Amino acid sequence: MREDLWRFTGIFLFSLLFGLLLNQVTVCLTAGLIAFIIWNYRLLQQVHYWLQNKSDTNPPELPGIIDAICREIDFLKGRHKQRTQKLSGFLKRFQDTTSSLPDAVVVLGEAGVIEWANDKAKDYLGVCWPQDRRQRIFNLIRNPELHNFMNSEQGRSGNWLHLESPVNSRQILEIRIVPYGGDQKLLVARDITSIYRNNQMRKDFIANASHELRTPLTVISGYLEGLDDEPGLLPPELLAQIKQMRRQTGRMQRLIEDLLTLSELETASQYTEGETVWVPDLLSSIYQEAQGLSGLMEHIFYLESDPDLCVRGSQRELYSAFSNLVFNAVQHTPEHGIIKIRWYADADGAHFEVTDNGEGIAPEHVPRITERFYRVDRGRSRDKGGTGLGLAIVKHVLAHHGGKLHIDSFVGKGSTFRCDFPDRIIVYKNQPVDSSRSA
Ligand code: ADP
Repeated sequence: MREDLWRFTGIFLFSLLFGLLLNQVTVCLTAGLIAFIIWNYRLLQQVHYWLQNKSDTNPPELPGIIDAICREIDFLKGRHKQRTQKLSGFLKRFQDTTSSLPDAVVVLGEAGVIEWANDKAKDYLGVCWPQDRRQRIFNLIRNPELHNFMNSEQGRSGNWLHLESPVNSRQILEIRIVPYGGDQKLLVARDITSIYRNNQMRKDFIANASHELRTPLTVISGYLEGLDDEPGLLPPELLAQIKQMRRQTGRMQRLIEDLLTLSELETASQYTEGETVWVPDLLSSIYQEAQGLSGLMEHIFYLESDPDLCVRGSQRELYSAFSNLVFNAVQHTPEHGIIKIRWYADADGAHFEVTDNGEGIAPEHVPRITERFYRVDRGRSRDKGGTGLGLAIVKHVLAHHGGKLHIDSFVGKGSTFRCDFPDRIIVYKNQPVDSSRSA
C-alpha cells in the first residue's frame, strides 16, 4: 500500500514540476492523473484476464495492492478447491456405498423429483440414474397406493408399505420413506419376496388348518349340544363328561378364531388407509356383551366415553382389541368386582382404558403377557376359556393403528390396560372430512 502511495505522490510531484516548468499546472496534473488511472485500469484488465482464462495458474506479478488482492484470491481459490475435492470425494464414497447396498435407494426432492438413485433402483423400481434425473417418481411408478403412502403421516413416520415391484410383478418390495432436510426424502425399497412368500405360506397353512378343523368341530359341538339338551337320552353319569366336552370344543373354536385373526394381523401391511370407526357405538355393544358375559358374577360396570371421539382405522380390528381387554377384565375379576371402561382424548392423543379391581398381575409377568400363549396361570386361564392369544392380538392391532399398550397392575388390587392412539388418527363426529388425514 505504501508503494502505491509513493507511486501516486511521485506522479503528482512530477506532473506538478512539469506543469510549473511549462506554466500549465492544471493541464499537467490532469494529464498525470489520467495516466495513473489508465495504468491502474490496465492492471485490473490483467487481473480480469487471469481470473477468466488462467485462474489455474499462479497470479500475474503485479505491483502494489493489486498484487496483494490477486494473492488473496489465489489463496481463497485454493481453499475452495480443496473443500470441493473433499466434498466430491465424500459424495463419491457415499454413492459407492449406497450403490453397493442390497436395497434400492432413491433421493427425492420437492414434489417427488428424482435427485439421485443407486443401481438397485433400476432393478427394483425401474428408476434409471442418470437418465431419469429430475423426473417425478410418480410419473415413473404409477401406483396410487405408493402416492397416498408417501403423502400420508404413516409414510412420513417410518412405517412400511408392501408393494409389487413395477418391474417384476413376482417381486414384493417393502417401501420405507425417510424424510430429511427440508423437503427431501429417501425412498428405500427392500426385496422381501421370500419373507413375504414364507409368511403367505404360513398364513395359508394356519388358515387352511383352521378351516379344516372348524368343520369337524362344528359337527362335534352340534352333536354334543344335542346330547346335552336332551338329558333323558344319556345316563346321568355321562352328562358331566358331555358338558366338559362342550366346554373344550368351545375353547378349541375360540382358539381357531384367534389364530386366524392373529395370522391375518401379522401378515397384513402395517399401512392401512382406514375407515372412520365410531368408537362410542362400538363400546356400547362391547359393554352390553361384557354384561352378558359377567352373568351371575354380577360385576359392576362403568362406561365413560367421549360421544364425539372417533378414530380412523379398522373397525374389526379395534373391536377385537377392545373386546379382548374388556372380556379379560371380566374373566380375571371376582364376583361383584368393579370394571371401568374409559374412552377419552387429551394432549397426548386418544385413550381406551379398562380398569378392574381383580386379581392383578405380578410385575415379572407384565413384560411377557402380550406374547402368544403366555399366561400367568395356564390352568386357570384354560378353565376360564382363555386362549392365551388375546393380548397378542391387542398388541398387533395397536401397532397397525400407530398405538401402544400400557399396563399397570398390582397383585390383589387390580389392573389397568390402556391403549394410547396418536393424535393423527383422531376424528371427531361432525368434523369436516380432511382428506389429508389418514391412518
Ligand atoms: P387369555 O386368553 O389367557 O386371557 P390373554 O393374552 O388375553 O390370554 O392374556 C394373557 C394373560 O394375561 C392371561 O392368561 C392372564 O394371566 C393375564 N391377564 C390378562 N388380562 C388380565 C386382567 N385384566 N387381570 C389379570 N390378569 C390378566
